[in-house]
Amino acid sequence: TQKFEVDRLKSQFVSTVSHELRTPLTSIRGSLGLLNSGLLGPVSEKGRRMLEIAVSNTDRLVRLINDILDLERLSSGEITLEKQAIDVTELMQEAVDVIKPLADAAGVSILTSPFLGSIVADHDRMMQTLTNLLSNAVKFSPSGSTVSLSADSAGSTLRFRIADRGRGIPPGKLESIFERFQQVDASDSRDKGGTGLGLPICRSIVQQHGGRIWAESVFGQGSTFYFTMPFEASAAHPSEHAGAVLVCDDDPAVRKLLEGMLRGHGYDVLTTESGEGAVELARRHLPQVILLDPLMPGASGWQTMAAMKEQKETSEIPILVVSVQPPAAAPGDHNAQIAGWIPKPLDEEHLFAALERVTGHSRSAPRILIVEDDLDLAHVLRSLFEEAGVIVDHAANGLEAMEIAGRVRPDLLVLDVVLPRMNGFHVIKWLRKDEDLCNIPVVVYSGTDIAPADRPRLRLGPTEFFTKSRISPEEFEHTVLEMVKMMTKSRAGEEIEANAAS
Ligand code: ADP
Repeated sequence: TQKFEVDRLKSQFVSTVSHELRTPLTSIRGSLGLLNSGLLGPVSEKGRRMLEIAVSNTDRLVRLINDILDLERLSSGEITLEKQAIDVTELMQEAVDVIKPLADAAGVSILTSPFLGSIVADHDRMMQTLTNLLSNAVKFSPSGSTVSLSADSAGSTLRFRIADRGRGIPPGKLESIFERFQQVDASDSRDKGGTGLGLPICRSIVQQHGGRIWAESVFGQGSTFYFTMPFEASAAHPSEHAGAVLVCDDDPAVRKLLEGMLRGHGYDVLTTESGEGAVELARRHLPQVILLDPLMPGASGWQTMAAMKEQKETSEIPILVVSVQPPAAAPGDHNAQIAGWIPKPLDEEHLFAALERVTGHSRSAPRILIVEDDLDLAHVLRSLFEEAGVIVDHAANGLEAMEIAGRVRPDLLVLDVVLPRMNGFHVIKWLRKDEDLCNIPVVVYSGTDIAPADRPRLRLGPTEFFTKSRISPEEFEHTVLEMVKMMTKSRAGEEIEANAAS
């Protein structure tokens, strides 16, 4: 009973820390970043130096808090892994891309060798493990040396290997470095900017996936870290063509011509000769736009279009009709579903003008509604987005959020979850009932991680989840702006549909 009570108090404390420290830290980090960028006025050279120190130490504090909370949640089994098939080569490349700036700055190069195959694992947690091991390898490597990342398999086990030519680890420490706050040298965390929690976190993640992690080293000559993952040689590959242009035409010459033109303009292309093929490819690869010939043997273009609109995953993909017939030839209500009409014979200029309209059109300034009860943080976020040319509205509680959303029709919602006078869950529930607002993108920006089980109740349109301070204000801003851009693009498509209909 006593132990149970102690555990309960401990997790309560951790969750309080998480909420109470994250929000103010996010404000501090955001304000310092803005001041440091010089956007708010000139800063003296000395002042800038002080700001840089403040920014880098806030980042360090944020990292430490995140690591403590992460480890706590991992070891209490509170984190559910979201497993999916992951291509091993892509995963390694992605991790290297993240570490590349750090490696460049340290004068260390990273070598990877491809591995054909995939694992079923939690993508973000795998990235966390790989980037952690890679950043350690880079940190402890001398300038001019090489870090290598590779994978090999034996039976049903895949083994990742991260090797460096750094100072190495003495034999007596090979085990203990996987314990909390254990370092080879007491000054390591200060000198190398670590928290001493990276390896325990990696170990916890790997073990939860049913794998093992260990280190080998010849002291003075480098270290090699290994970890294993259960592996199925035949696991499915995720799509490599998301965002491609799908060309559907029964004439091979037209397909070839279109493919050449599109690739020449840097588009990734998928082609198919039949409507049935188009529906299947679209579902599997989610292209950003479909070029469709309405006159085909088998399922006609119109039937294909109807099938596309009926299938939930593909219903939003804009369709451009490529036809020898004039626009009036679309039967029934199909005109309303067409994002544009491109006449045959193909005219390159016309084709790309239509494509750009559908994929890259932007209207006047986008509008974001920030729902955040911490006024300081709201102010920082407002400044960030306004600098980027976005119109910002702010609601300090749930009721206000509903009132403002109904009035201004924002393009995107930034939503804190714990709010006075109606929490984030209620706000979303209410917005779902509104025809105009039920599809807008949402960025949930909360002080605590939202459990996967609770996430569906916070989704509206495309929805992203971020935990304050786990993501830097700059990254956060970037992601939100990308989502706004996507949103205004798809709206451009709707405008064209509307034009085509009128
Ligand atoms: P930190 O955040 O301090 O890097 P870790 O748990 O990731 O925490 O690592 C713990 C310690 O293990 C490091 O401080 C360092 O002393 C040692 N270590 C980890 N990786 C390496 C490596 N590749 N080469 C040498 N020492 C390492």
